[in-house]
Amino acid sequence: MAIVTLYARTDIGLVRTNNEDSYFTDPERCLAIVADGMGGHAGGEVASKIAVNTISEELKSRDSIWPFGRTQRERNRIVESIRLANRRVRDAAQHDTSLAGMGTTVVVLWVRGRRAHVAHVGDSRIYRYRKGGLVQLTRDHSWPSEEASMRNVLTRAVGAEDNVEIDHRLLDVAPGDIFLLCSDGLTRRVEDDGIVRALREFKNGDEASQRLVDLAKENGAPDNVTVVLAYC
Ligand code: CA
Repeated sequence: MAIVTLYARTDIGLVRTNNEDSYFTDPERCLAIVADGMGGHAGGEVASKIAVNTISEELKSRDSIWPFGRTQRERNRIVESIRLANRRVRDAAQHDTSLAGMGTTVVVLWVRGRRAHVAHVGDSRIYRYRKGGLVQLTRDHSWPSEEASMRNVLTRAVGAEDNVEIDHRLLDVAPGDIFLLCSDGLTRRVEDDGIVRALREFKNGDEASQRLVDLAKENGAPDNVTVVLAYC
């Protein structure tokens, strides 16, 4: 049984008047989710909450004890849970015109024994920090924006279309690995070497996660900032 310790921080940032990021952590299931919503009025908040709630609920039930094909079943469950979130975001937007056009990114980390499932849609990210090196495990689904303060144009989002294409990877996990899940409010303001320094200097996940949020704020934090650290 893998033991994963999870630390989460979210911050409204220095400019926004609401926090459209949502997250979920469950140390018992070694599950962490971050979603970054978008859409006028309350849309962004609603979309990211629907995504996080749907995925965490869908991954709650116990898997069968039949061991064969378990990894494939886990992968299917994650993908199906994100598809269901996509339908629910679209349904909610259809029933309330003030939510029309809302959508959200999502990143999911599910550590199962010595393997980790990584799934994502959009430009929230997952990194792995191992032996002093940081590797980005997700590829942004976005076109770069010329304007540094502007959000990139997403090429994929939960709730954007009837069907959502989901990227999934299966990775090995070594003792001492640290996974970072975050919204773009962090990565637009803090470079990789800043993340590495924070993880190296602050051995305690509580302090390291706070340090990452503080770094984004020291650099202006025009957007909401959400950080989840998973220590394996
Ligand atoms: Ca954002």
